[in-house]
Amino acid sequence: MAYHSPVSTGLSGRCPKCGEGALFKGFLKFNENCESCGADFTMEDAGDGPAFFVMTIVMFVFIPIVIGFQFLTDAPGWLVFVIWGPILVLACVGLLRPFRGIMFNMQWVRNAQQVRAKDFKKPDFKKQNED
Ligand SMILES: [Zn+2]
Repeated sequence: MAYHSPVSTGLSGRCPKCGEGALFKGFLKFNENCESCGADFTMEDAGDGPAFFVMTIVMFVFIPIVIGFQFLTDAPGWLVFVIWGPILVLACVGLLRPFRGIMFNMQWVRNAQQVRAKDFKKPDFKKQNED
């Protein structure tokens, strides 16, 4: 099977396995499986990762612009909030879907899974003490 870049398939919202089927059912909700190849997306667990990256990127890009706008125009705080608040929210919401897609597809390609308590073996302290 051909390799599909997790970044390109994530940006386009496509299946990480076949690169064809839709990854999303709604705006941010994932499909249960790929309609093209049947890949199972139920283990999807991007968590807060995409939101963290989106907030960080938006902050680094927009906050200097907002502060520069404030200094250049000497606009009152409420006006800065009214102008830039919706822009910041739209930037975050707009970037969230592609970042969710990229993060999930990278997890898929690397076969990354959440570590669970059942995956650990109980340490055998008796045996350690005998040595
Ligand atoms: Zn697929």
